Amino acid sequence: MEKNFVPNPQWMSEKYDEMNTMLFNGRLGSCGFNIFTTGKGSGGGVLGWFKITGHGIKIDRRTRKMFSENYWDKEYINKDNFVDLCKPVIELNGNYRGTEHGFLSTLVHEMCHYYTYMEGWAPTQAHGREFRNIGSVVASRSNGMFTVQRIATAEQMSELELSDEMKAKREKRLANKKAAVSAVVVFKRDGVVELTMTSNQSVIDMIKRYYEKMGEMVVVNNDFNVIEFLFSKGYKKNMRTWRYWYLQDKPWLDELKSMLFGFEDNTETDVDEPEREEEVEPSKIFTIKTSTGTFECNADSREELINKIKERFPKMSDETVEKVINNPANYKEAASGVREERNILKEILDEFLETEGLKNNGIEDSVEITPDMNLGKYSPLQLQ
Ligand SMILES: [Zn+2]
Repeated sequence: MEKNFVPNPQWMSEKYDEMNTMLFNGRLGSCGFNIFTTGKGSGGGVLGWFKITGHGIKIDRRTRKMFSENYWDKEYINKDNFVDLCKPVIELNGNYRGTEHGFLSTLVHEMCHYYTYMEGWAPTQAHGREFRNIGSVVASRSNGMFTVQRIATAEQMSELELSDEMKAKREKRLANKKAAVSAVVVFKRDGVVELTMTSNQSVIDMIKRYYEKMGEMVVVNNDFNVIEFLFSKGYKKNMRTWRYWYLQDKPWLDELKSMLFGFEDNTETDVDEPEREEEVEPSKIFTIKTSTGTFECNADSREELINKIKERFPKMSDETVEKVINNPANYKEAASGVREERNILKEILDEFLETEGLKNNGIEDSVEITPDMNLGKYSPLQLQ
């Protein structure tokens, strides 16, 4: 398949009219066209955009009704004033080369976005119900020539590829990113698996300290194969703050585990050996008063505790150490789980924010991303 077609605004305009008649009953109004080669997504992440470029266009959060607002005027958007006020524009990524059909399906995809806004009601999600509805109408009217999907299908991507120059740039950028980034995977006792990709050592330290204090398993890995594997699944974001993805439901989790631990998690257990149940003692903290304050110590074993006490009180005789250790009065129950977790989190968070200088900006919540090529995953309108 020859992939040497490069679109331009003139071609877009002609095809837009053609497709509008053929697939949308001519219902779409006028539209601006543009080819972009720089900016967000131009490096390959986005094939095309549908944009609303009119000034002061807002959405009523509750009703999803769109309106135009400036100092002295508020006007609701409807089918008749949509083009004038919203100034819709479709853009295609000019860093791609491909077949004409490949670009045409992207154009049709963006036209479906147009359709979902043109009555003056903003869909809740860019690729939500409204988009899927018009998408399936278009698919059937075109006799399957266009399968309109949220993300580019493999078939569509086989018709498009980045220019050599862009490919080289992208690869270089990707290689740099891969070399710098570590995967931090938290395997929690409740089965939840959290992944953070970051090159920020203090983020890594923070996650480790937080979860290890809670007794969860934290694995940090920057092996090229592991990073490459995770990148191939779409986890390419280098997080500067603590954000994570959930991995527990991913079908390739076992594959990742075997890369991290070097064994398959689903190997059969030896049935001859009875399972041993470990006795777990309620966690207690060793506490004694000293002339300078209170000495508190949390140890996993008696030996560790002895070592810690001797380290802190080098002059204490073995006999005395034995005595204080055997005295139940010198132990107190660890604070209840919830309270302790909260305290630990607060302590670590404060320290982190302090060192990162983020104290007033707060920390972002976790998000899930779509690890595939997007055709413009961002809504063209910002919520007001
Ligand atoms: Zn889209």
